[in-house]
Amino acid sequence: MAIRKRKSDLPEYGVKIRLYPTLVQQAKLRQFFGNDRFLWNQLVSLYQERYKNNKKSKLLTEFDLNNLLPALKNEYPFLKASDSSSFQIVTKNISDAWEAFFAGTRRKPRFHSKHSAKQSYTGKSSGIRIMGKRNMFLPKLRRVRSSKTGVIDGKIKRYTISVDACGRYWLSLIVEKKTAFLPKTGKAAGIDVGLTHLAILSDGRKFDKFSSDYCEKQAEIWQSKSSKRRHLALVKSQQDANRKALGAKSLSDYRNWQKANVAKNRYMSRITNQRDDYLHKISDQLVKEYDVIVIEDLKIKNMTKNHHRARSILRQSWGRFRDMLEYKCKKYGKILIKVNPAYTSRICSKCGKDTGKKPLSVREWDCPFCKAHHDRDINASINILLKGLAQL
Ligand SMILES: [Zn+2]
Repeated sequence: MAIRKRKSDLPEYGVKIRLYPTLVQQAKLRQFFGNDRFLWNQLVSLYQERYKNNKKSKLLTEFDLNNLLPALKNEYPFLKASDSSSFQIVTKNISDAWEAFFAGTRRKPRFHSKHSAKQSYTGKSSGIRIMGKRNMFLPKLRRVRSSKTGVIDGKIKRYTISVDACGRYWLSLIVEKKTAFLPKTGKAAGIDVGLTHLAILSDGRKFDKFSSDYCEKQAEIWQSKSSKRRHLALVKSQQDANRKALGAKSLSDYRNWQKANVAKNRYMSRITNQRDDYLHKISDQLVKEYDVIVIEDLKIKNMTKNHHRARSILRQSWGRFRDMLEYKCKKYGKILIKVNPAYTSRICSKCGKDTGKKPLSVREWDCPFCKAHHDRDINASINILLKGLAQL
Protein backbone atom coordinates (compact mmCIF):
# COMPACT_ATOMS: atom_id res chain seq x y z
CA MET A 1 0.00 0.00 0.00
CA ALA A 2 1.28 3.40 -0.90
CA ILE A 3 2.21 5.67 1.92
CA ARG A 4 0.03 8.73 1.79
CA LYS A 5 1.44 12.04 2.78
CA ARG A 6 -0.38 13.21 5.87
CA LYS A 7 -2.62 16.15 5.16
CA SER A 8 -1.24 19.02 7.17
CA ASP A 9 -3.37 20.94 9.67
CA LEU A 10 -1.99 24.32 8.76
CA PRO A 11 -4.64 26.86 7.76
CA GLU A 12 -4.97 27.64 4.06
CA TYR A 13 -6.14 30.78 2.36
CA GLY A 14 -6.83 31.96 -1.15
CA VAL A 15 -5.16 34.89 -2.84
CA LYS A 16 -5.49 36.30 -6.33
CA ILE A 17 -3.01 38.43 -8.26
CA ARG A 18 -2.83 39.80 -11.79
CA LEU A 19 -0.50 38.31 -14.39
CA TYR A 20 0.98 40.20 -17.31
CA PRO A 21 2.19 37.46 -19.67
CA THR A 22 4.13 38.34 -22.80
CA LEU A 23 2.59 37.57 -26.18
CA VAL A 24 4.61 34.36 -26.37
CA GLN A 25 3.44 33.37 -22.90
CA GLN A 26 -0.15 34.22 -23.84
CA ALA A 27 0.08 31.86 -26.80
CA LYS A 28 1.40 29.13 -24.53
CA LEU A 29 -1.38 29.77 -22.04
CA ARG A 30 -4.00 29.44 -24.76
CA GLN A 31 -2.49 26.07 -25.58
CA PHE A 32 -2.49 25.00 -21.92
CA PHE A 33 -6.14 26.01 -21.53
CA GLY A 34 -6.85 24.02 -24.69
CA ASN A 35 -4.89 20.98 -23.53
CA ASP A 36 -6.83 20.71 -20.27
CA ARG A 37 -10.08 21.10 -22.17
CA PHE A 38 -8.94 18.50 -24.72
CA LEU A 39 -8.11 16.03 -21.96
CA TRP A 40 -11.40 16.67 -20.19
CA ASN A 41 -13.36 16.10 -23.40
CA GLN A 42 -11.39 12.91 -24.23
CA LEU A 43 -12.19 11.53 -20.80
CA VAL A 44 -15.85 12.53 -21.00
CA SER A 45 -16.22 10.60 -24.24
CA LEU A 46 -14.31 7.66 -22.76
CA TYR A 47 -16.73 7.49 -19.83
CA GLN A 48 -19.74 7.94 -22.11
CA GLU A 49 -18.54 5.17 -24.40
CA ARG A 50 -18.09 2.72 -21.55
CA TYR A 51 -21.41 3.71 -20.02
CA LYS A 52 -23.22 3.26 -23.33
CA ASN A 53 -21.66 -0.15 -23.98
CA ASN A 54 -22.29 -1.51 -20.54
CA LYS A 55 -24.32 0.32 -17.93
CA LYS A 56 -22.84 -1.88 -15.26
CA SER A 57 -19.19 -1.51 -16.23
CA LYS A 58 -16.85 -0.63 -13.41
CA LEU A 59 -16.43 3.07 -12.89
CA LEU A 60 -12.98 4.31 -13.85
CA THR A 61 -11.19 5.78 -10.88
CA GLU A 62 -8.85 8.73 -10.72
CA PHE A 63 -6.04 6.21 -10.39
CA ASP A 64 -7.10 4.40 -13.61
CA LEU A 65 -7.22 7.69 -15.46
CA ASN A 66 -3.80 8.77 -14.27
CA ASN A 67 -2.44 5.51 -15.63
CA LEU A 68 -3.86 6.41 -19.03
CA LEU A 69 -2.03 9.73 -19.15
CA PRO A 70 1.35 8.53 -20.53
CA ALA A 71 -0.39 6.74 -23.42
CA LEU A 72 -2.46 9.82 -24.18
CA LYS A 73 0.64 12.01 -24.17
CA ASN A 74 2.29 9.69 -26.66
CA GLU A 75 -0.73 9.74 -28.89
CA TYR A 76 -1.13 13.53 -28.64
CA PRO A 77 2.37 14.97 -28.20
CA PHE A 78 1.09 18.54 -27.80
CA LEU A 79 -0.08 17.55 -24.33
CA LYS A 80 3.54 17.38 -23.26
CA ALA A 81 3.77 21.17 -23.34
CA SER A 82 1.49 21.54 -20.31
CA ASP A 83 2.33 21.35 -16.63
CA SER A 84 1.41 17.70 -16.19
CA SER A 85 0.16 18.30 -12.65
CA SER A 86 -2.78 20.11 -14.23
CA PHE A 87 -3.85 16.80 -15.86
CA GLN A 88 -4.05 15.17 -12.45
CA ILE A 89 -6.46 17.89 -11.42
CA VAL A 90 -8.54 17.13 -14.54
CA THR A 91 -8.61 13.39 -13.84
CA LYS A 92 -9.63 14.05 -10.24
CA ASN A 93 -12.38 16.47 -11.25
CA ILE A 94 -13.84 14.17 -13.86
CA SER A 95 -13.78 11.04 -11.72
CA ASP A 96 -15.46 13.05 -8.94
CA ALA A 97 -18.02 14.33 -11.43
CA TRP A 98 -18.91 10.85 -12.67
CA GLU A 99 -19.07 9.47 -9.17
CA ALA A 100 -21.48 12.26 -8.25
CA PHE A 101 -23.50 11.53 -11.38
CA PHE A 102 -23.84 7.86 -10.50
CA ALA A 103 -24.69 8.77 -6.93
CA GLY A 104 -27.46 10.93 -8.39
CA THR A 105 -26.23 14.16 -6.86
CA ARG A 106 -25.03 15.83 -10.04
CA ARG A 107 -25.93 15.89 -13.69
CA LYS A 108 -23.88 14.09 -16.30
CA PRO A 109 -20.48 15.67 -17.01
CA ARG A 110 -20.56 17.62 -20.23
CA PHE A 111 -18.05 18.53 -22.89
CA HIS A 112 -16.23 21.79 -22.35
CA SER A 113 -16.50 24.34 -25.10
CA LYS A 114 -13.68 26.44 -26.46
CA HIS A 115 -16.07 29.37 -26.36
CA SER A 116 -16.99 29.25 -22.71
CA ALA A 117 -16.38 32.62 -21.07
CA LYS A 118 -13.83 31.40 -18.59
CA GLN A 119 -10.60 29.83 -19.76
CA SER A 120 -8.42 28.39 -17.04
CA TYR A 121 -6.32 25.56 -15.80
CA THR A 122 -5.25 24.46 -12.35
CA GLY A 123 -1.98 22.86 -11.34
CA LYS A 124 -0.31 21.75 -8.15
CA SER A 125 3.25 21.57 -9.32
CA SER A 126 5.92 22.45 -6.82
CA GLY A 127 7.71 24.38 -9.58
CA ILE A 128 5.76 27.56 -8.88
CA ARG A 129 7.51 30.21 -6.82
CA ILE A 130 7.82 33.92 -6.14
CA MET A 131 10.52 35.72 -8.11
CA GLY A 132 10.86 39.11 -6.52
CA LYS A 133 8.34 41.86 -5.91
CA ARG A 134 6.43 41.65 -9.17
CA ASN A 135 7.38 38.39 -10.82
CA MET A 136 6.25 34.80 -10.50
CA PHE A 137 8.04 31.73 -11.75
CA LEU A 138 5.39 29.45 -13.25
CA PRO A 139 5.76 25.87 -14.49
CA LYS A 140 6.33 25.70 -18.27
CA LEU A 141 6.16 29.49 -18.58
CA ARG A 142 9.17 30.56 -16.53
CA ARG A 143 9.20 34.17 -15.37
CA VAL A 144 5.85 36.00 -15.69
CA ARG A 145 5.31 39.61 -14.68
CA SER A 146 2.63 40.02 -12.01
CA SER A 147 1.06 42.43 -9.54
CA LYS A 148 2.65 42.61 -6.09
CA THR A 149 3.67 39.21 -4.77
CA GLY A 150 3.98 40.42 -1.17
CA VAL A 151 0.45 39.17 -0.45
CA ILE A 152 1.63 35.58 -0.79
CA ASP A 153 2.85 34.42 2.59
CA GLY A 154 3.38 30.71 2.90
CA LYS A 155 3.63 27.61 0.79
CA ILE A 156 1.73 27.54 -2.51
CA LYS A 157 -0.41 24.37 -2.66
CA ARG A 158 -2.33 24.91 -5.86
CA TYR A 159 -2.54 27.50 -8.58
CA THR A 160 -5.09 28.44 -11.21
CA ILE A 161 -4.34 30.63 -14.19
CA SER A 162 -7.32 32.16 -15.92
CA VAL A 163 -8.18 34.81 -18.43
CA ASP A 164 -11.39 36.76 -18.11
CA ALA A 165 -13.66 38.16 -20.79
CA CYS A 166 -11.68 41.42 -20.85
CA GLY A 167 -8.47 39.55 -21.66
CA ARG A 168 -6.96 40.04 -18.20
CA TYR A 169 -4.90 37.20 -16.81
CA TRP A 170 -5.21 36.12 -13.18
CA LEU A 171 -3.32 33.80 -10.89
CA SER A 172 -5.37 32.37 -8.02
CA LEU A 173 -3.45 30.56 -5.33
CA ILE A 174 -4.23 28.32 -2.40
CA VAL A 175 -1.54 29.09 0.14
CA GLU A 176 -0.71 27.20 3.29
CA LYS A 177 0.07 29.60 6.08
CA LYS A 178 3.29 29.39 7.94
CA THR A 179 2.67 28.99 11.64
CA ALA A 180 3.72 32.16 13.26
CA PHE A 181 1.78 32.00 16.49
CA LEU A 182 3.33 34.07 19.24
CA PRO A 183 3.35 32.75 22.82
CA LYS A 184 0.29 33.68 24.87
CA THR A 185 0.72 36.28 27.57
CA GLY A 186 -2.76 36.30 29.12
CA LYS A 187 -2.95 40.08 28.82
CA ALA A 188 -5.57 42.30 27.19
CA ALA A 189 -5.49 45.97 26.25
CA GLY A 190 -7.92 48.61 25.05
CA ILE A 191 -6.55 51.24 22.69
CA ASP A 192 -7.86 54.76 22.21
CA VAL A 193 -6.59 56.89 19.36
CA GLY A 194 -6.31 60.58 19.95
CA LEU A 195 -5.21 63.87 18.55
CA THR A 196 -2.31 64.20 20.92
CA HIS A 197 -1.14 60.60 20.77
CA LEU A 198 -1.26 57.81 18.25
CA ALA A 199 -2.40 55.31 20.86
CA ILE A 200 -3.37 55.45 24.51
CA LEU A 201 -3.47 52.09 26.25
CA SER A 202 -5.80 51.04 29.04
CA ASP A 203 -2.77 50.37 31.23
CA GLY A 204 -1.87 54.04 31.03
CA ARG A 205 0.89 53.88 28.42
CA LYS A 206 0.84 56.45 25.66
CA PHE A 207 2.52 56.25 22.26
CA ASP A 208 3.36 59.53 20.58
CA LYS A 209 1.77 60.32 17.27
CA PHE A 210 4.05 60.08 14.30
CA SER A 211 5.44 63.32 13.03
CA SER A 212 8.08 64.17 10.53
CA ASP A 213 8.29 67.94 10.89
CA TYR A 214 11.10 68.48 8.44
CA CYS A 215 9.58 66.40 5.62
CA GLU A 216 6.09 67.76 6.22
CA LYS A 217 7.39 71.31 6.06
CA GLN A 218 9.30 70.56 2.86
CA ALA A 219 6.31 68.84 1.28
CA GLU A 220 4.20 71.88 2.05
CA ILE A 221 6.79 74.27 0.59
CA TRP A 222 7.05 72.29 -2.64
CA GLN A 223 3.30 71.91 -2.84
CA SER A 224 2.85 75.67 -2.79
CA LYS A 225 5.68 76.11 -5.30
CA SER A 226 4.02 73.52 -7.51
CA SER A 227 0.65 75.27 -7.51
CA LYS A 228 2.22 78.67 -8.17
CA ARG A 229 4.24 77.28 -11.06
CA ARG A 230 1.23 75.46 -12.41
CA HIS A 231 -0.68 78.70 -12.46
CA LEU A 232 2.18 80.47 -14.30
CA ALA A 233 2.43 77.65 -16.80
CA LEU A 234 -1.30 77.79 -17.43
CA VAL A 235 -1.19 81.52 -18.07
CA LYS A 236 1.83 81.19 -20.33
CA SER A 237 0.42 78.36 -22.42
CA GLN A 238 -2.85 80.27 -22.74
CA GLN A 239 -0.97 83.33 -24.00
CA ASP A 240 0.96 81.18 -26.48
CA ALA A 241 -2.26 79.66 -27.72
CA ASN A 242 -3.85 83.09 -28.15
CA ARG A 243 -0.87 84.37 -30.09
CA LYS A 244 -0.82 81.13 -32.09
CA ALA A 245 2.87 81.06 -31.27
CA LEU A 246 5.11 78.58 -33.03
CA GLY A 247 6.17 75.66 -30.89
CA ALA A 248 3.66 76.42 -28.16
CA LYS A 249 4.33 74.18 -25.19
CA SER A 250 1.74 72.02 -23.57
CA LEU A 251 1.27 72.20 -19.81
CA SER A 252 3.37 69.16 -19.11
CA ASP A 253 6.35 70.70 -20.91
CA TYR A 254 6.87 73.22 -18.13
CA ARG A 255 9.89 71.68 -16.45
CA ASN A 256 9.92 73.98 -13.44
CA TRP A 257 6.45 72.95 -12.46
CA GLN A 258 7.29 69.25 -12.99
CA LYS A 259 10.39 69.64 -10.81
CA ALA A 260 8.31 71.01 -7.95
CA ASN A 261 5.92 68.09 -8.30
CA VAL A 262 8.71 65.55 -8.17
CA ALA A 263 10.20 67.18 -5.08
CA LYS A 264 6.83 67.25 -3.33
CA ASN A 265 6.17 63.59 -4.12
CA ARG A 266 9.61 62.62 -2.90
CA TYR A 267 8.96 64.19 0.50
CA MET A 268 5.49 62.69 0.68
CA SER A 269 6.78 59.19 0.08
CA ARG A 270 9.55 59.72 2.61
CA ILE A 271 6.88 60.65 5.17
CA THR A 272 4.93 57.49 4.32
CA ASN A 273 7.97 55.25 4.72
CA GLN A 274 9.03 56.76 8.03
CA ARG A 275 5.47 56.57 9.29
CA ASP A 276 5.14 52.92 8.33
CA ASP A 277 8.39 52.05 10.08
CA TYR A 278 7.13 53.73 13.22
CA LEU A 279 3.72 52.06 13.10
CA HIS A 280 5.25 48.64 12.44
CA LYS A 281 7.42 48.98 15.51
CA ILE A 282 4.50 49.82 17.80
CA SER A 283 2.05 47.29 16.36
CA ASP A 284 4.69 44.54 16.60
CA GLN A 285 5.23 45.38 20.23
CA LEU A 286 1.50 45.39 21.05
CA VAL A 287 0.75 42.10 19.29
CA LYS A 288 3.67 40.48 21.09
CA GLU A 289 2.55 41.80 24.47
CA TYR A 290 -1.22 41.25 24.40
CA ASP A 291 -3.46 38.31 23.55
CA VAL A 292 -6.54 40.47 23.15
CA ILE A 293 -6.51 43.97 21.67
CA VAL A 294 -9.66 46.10 21.62
CA ILE A 295 -9.99 49.12 19.34
CA GLU A 296 -12.77 51.46 18.31
CA ASP A 297 -14.63 50.75 15.12
CA LEU A 298 -13.70 53.85 13.15
CA LYS A 299 -16.41 53.25 10.59
CA ILE A 300 -18.87 54.11 13.32
CA LYS A 301 -16.79 56.89 14.82
CA ASN A 302 -17.70 60.22 13.34
CA MET A 303 -14.46 61.65 12.08
CA THR A 304 -14.43 65.32 11.36
CA LYS A 305 -13.34 66.11 7.85
CA ASN A 306 -10.33 68.33 7.99
CA HIS A 307 -8.07 69.13 5.13
CA HIS A 308 -5.26 70.36 7.25
CA ARG A 309 -2.23 68.31 6.27
CA ALA A 310 -1.08 67.36 9.77
CA ARG A 311 -4.59 66.26 10.66
CA SER A 312 -4.98 64.18 7.52
CA ILE A 313 -1.61 62.50 8.10
CA LEU A 314 -2.77 61.62 11.60
CA ARG A 315 -5.98 60.15 10.24
CA GLN A 316 -4.01 58.08 7.70
CA SER A 317 -1.79 56.89 10.55
CA TRP A 318 -4.79 55.58 12.46
CA GLY A 319 -5.99 53.71 9.41
CA ARG A 320 -2.62 52.11 8.74
CA PHE A 321 -2.17 51.32 12.43
CA ARG A 322 -5.50 49.50 12.55
CA ASP A 323 -4.76 47.57 9.37
CA MET A 324 -1.43 46.46 10.81
CA LEU A 325 -2.99 45.41 14.12
CA GLU A 326 -5.66 43.51 12.23
CA TYR A 327 -3.40 41.44 10.01
CA LYS A 328 -0.75 40.92 12.67
CA CYS A 329 -3.32 39.63 15.16
CA LYS A 330 -4.54 37.20 12.51
CA LYS A 331 -1.02 36.16 11.58
CA TYR A 332 0.22 35.67 15.12
CA GLY A 333 -2.90 34.05 16.57
CA LYS A 334 -4.05 36.97 18.71
CA ILE A 335 -7.56 38.42 19.00
CA LEU A 336 -8.61 41.85 17.74
CA ILE A 337 -12.02 43.18 18.78
CA LYS A 338 -13.67 46.29 17.35
CA VAL A 339 -16.21 48.06 19.53
CA ASN A 340 -18.69 50.86 19.05
CA PRO A 341 -16.94 54.00 20.30
CA ALA A 342 -20.12 55.64 21.60
CA TYR A 343 -19.89 57.00 25.15
CA THR A 344 -16.32 55.78 25.72
CA SER A 345 -15.28 59.29 26.73
CA ARG A 346 -18.39 59.96 28.81
CA ILE A 347 -18.62 56.93 31.02
CA CYS A 348 -16.58 56.74 34.21
CA SER A 349 -14.54 53.56 33.91
CA LYS A 350 -14.64 53.10 37.68
CA CYS A 351 -18.32 53.34 38.52
CA GLY A 352 -19.80 52.98 35.03
CA LYS A 353 -21.96 56.11 35.24
CA ASP A 354 -22.46 58.51 32.34
CA THR A 355 -20.78 61.76 33.31
CA GLY A 356 -21.89 63.69 30.24
CA LYS A 357 -20.17 65.19 27.25
CA LYS A 358 -16.93 67.06 27.74
CA PRO A 359 -15.25 69.47 25.37
CA LEU A 360 -11.98 68.29 23.79
CA SER A 361 -10.02 70.78 25.86
CA VAL A 362 -10.83 68.89 29.06
CA ARG A 363 -7.88 66.48 29.42
CA GLU A 364 -8.53 65.40 33.01
CA TRP A 365 -11.68 65.27 35.09
CA ASP A 366 -13.20 64.02 38.33
CA CYS A 367 -16.21 61.72 38.39
CA PRO A 368 -19.09 63.53 40.15
CA PHE A 369 -20.44 60.18 41.39
CA CYS A 370 -17.47 58.20 42.71
CA LYS A 371 -14.95 61.07 42.81
CA ALA A 372 -12.39 59.12 40.79
CA HIS A 373 -9.83 61.25 38.98
CA HIS A 374 -9.46 60.42 35.28
CA ASP A 375 -7.12 61.13 32.42
CA ARG A 376 -9.53 61.62 29.53
CA ASP A 377 -7.78 59.27 27.08
CA ILE A 378 -6.83 56.54 29.54
CA ASN A 379 -10.40 56.46 30.85
CA ALA A 380 -11.65 56.07 27.27
CA SER A 381 -9.23 53.23 26.53
CA ILE A 382 -10.28 51.40 29.72
CA ASN A 383 -13.91 51.72 28.59
CA ILE A 384 -12.93 50.37 25.18
CA LEU A 385 -11.25 47.39 26.84
CA LEU A 386 -14.30 46.72 29.05
CA LYS A 387 -16.63 46.86 26.03
CA GLY A 388 -14.38 44.43 24.16
CA LEU A 389 -14.13 41.98 27.03
CA ALA A 390 -17.91 42.03 27.37
CA GLN A 391 -18.15 40.97 23.70
CA LEU A 392 -15.64 38.18 24.09
ZN1 LIG B 1 -17.27 57.27 38.71
